[in-house]
Amino acid sequence: MDEECVTELPRGGDLPWALFYPADYAVASSNLGYHYVYRALKELGIAAERFCGSPVPFRSIEGDTLLERFPVITASVAYEGNAEGFFRWLNSANIPLHFEDRLLGSFPIIGAGGAMTYINPLLLSAVCDFIVLGDALDSLPFVAESLRRYMQDGNKTKLFSALAEHPSILVPPVHIRQGEVSVRRRIANDQPLDGKYPMTSTWLTPRSSFGKTLLVELQRGCARNCSYCTLPGCFGKMRFRDIGVIMERLEEIFAAHEVEQVGLVTPEAGDHPRIEELLDLLAARDKGVSFASLRIDGLTEKMLSALKTGGRHSITVAPETGSDELRFSCGKKFTNELITEKMKLAASLGIDQAKLYFMTGLPGETDEDIRSIAALSGRIIDETGMNLILSVGPFVPKPGTVWSRAEFGGVPELKRKYDILIRELSKIKKKRPQLRMTSPKEAESEFSLAWYGYKESTALAKNGGVSKKVPFDSTARAKTLLELERLW
Ligand code: SF4
Repeated sequence: MDEECVTELPRGGDLPWALFYPADYAVASSNLGYHYVYRALKELGIAAERFCGSPVPFRSIEGDTLLERFPVITASVAYEGNAEGFFRWLNSANIPLHFEDRLLGSFPIIGAGGAMTYINPLLLSAVCDFIVLGDALDSLPFVAESLRRYMQDGNKTKLFSALAEHPSILVPPVHIRQGEVSVRRRIANDQPLDGKYPMTSTWLTPRSSFGKTLLVELQRGCARNCSYCTLPGCFGKMRFRDIGVIMERLEEIFAAHEVEQVGLVTPEAGDHPRIEELLDLLAARDKGVSFASLRIDGLTEKMLSALKTGGRHSITVAPETGSDELRFSCGKKFTNELITEKMKLAASLGIDQAKLYFMTGLPGETDEDIRSIAALSGRIIDETGMNLILSVGPFVPKPGTVWSRAEFGGVPELKRKYDILIRELSKIKKKRPQLRMTSPKEAESEFSLAWYGYKESTALAKNGGVSKKVPFDSTARAKTLLELERLW
């Protein structure tokens, strides 16, 4: 295994716990939450072993241990599609999917945490015995102790009642009555980051999606409230880490491990008040830097130079749309003028490629707005000479956002808008951008999963985790909206 642990972790443990990530190892290794939970479990003395999505993950990464050995299985569910992956995997391991079908017998206890639990935990509610809502590290010691007691007495009813006492844990066998959530819960998302949570990757591997990069969390939550974004509603108020504390920890890691690249994990890198200071320190240690996300209006020469010094010649930013007015309505208050200016700055520093994220099907969007995506792309190419990759995806209204009640565009309309965009882009003769589009069908599936309630989660469980067979319409969505309002 070409993995190097950045933090020394206790060996062994007393509670075999399968920690599953429903995607392949490369993606799992680039999810900082998964790193944190693994480390926290090991530090709690739990015999946690990791399982990733492919190949069929019936043996753990650590010990090649068979799944049957684990009385506890939990998953980190980062987004809607992960839930399907998790359910299909349990199903193929012959574990009954609905919690009711596991009440009797020696089936494992199934739990979940992860970003999806901040958005809509009901998607997971028919399958999981417990769902940790929000920042999981807050409740893990409590969960571990409850499970330890269960290992002694084997009493599931007692375990579920104990877990149900915690305000940030949803326990479907206790809290769902006649198909409806019967209790108010709270998302754990307000604790200061410093001193409480780890801040870096637990392991380094060249096989992560970002290569051998040490991930460092600078910030959680966002002060802005972009109309489509789940982040402000779910991850709570903006919480920064202290740069001094970060540097102290980084120095320890740099002294003990070979780290060439540091990946700064933050919703919008330009928001951290002392980001430039951190970049200076990393440059002084000769470390390459990458950013999880760059906000165009916060982009500075120092950030671009740091990327270039780290060997990157490409940047990724999200103009979202080609018209200023529509972009402002999304909550992104910057203009095409500013985008072009920042791209010119990047090009002047030797960055020759940009990946630009756009959405279609936004509330109030016109065909002219679609044409403006091509116009903005053409202008950037003309004024910078950059190669562009356009990543275009349909707008999907999600729970917990300003636009949670907005309409989803629908497959035929989204295809029509894509056709307009393809036609307009074909008029760009020089350096025509590469176009990568999320299929409207895929977006439709994401939309319905995002709004699944307990009833649809049950149907998904009965169908072995295959969402295509689950009926879904606007009535189902309205019901989930009401249930979520009751839950939070
Ligand atoms: S899109 Fe970015 S800036 Fe806007 S709310 Fe989300 S994280 Fe914050």
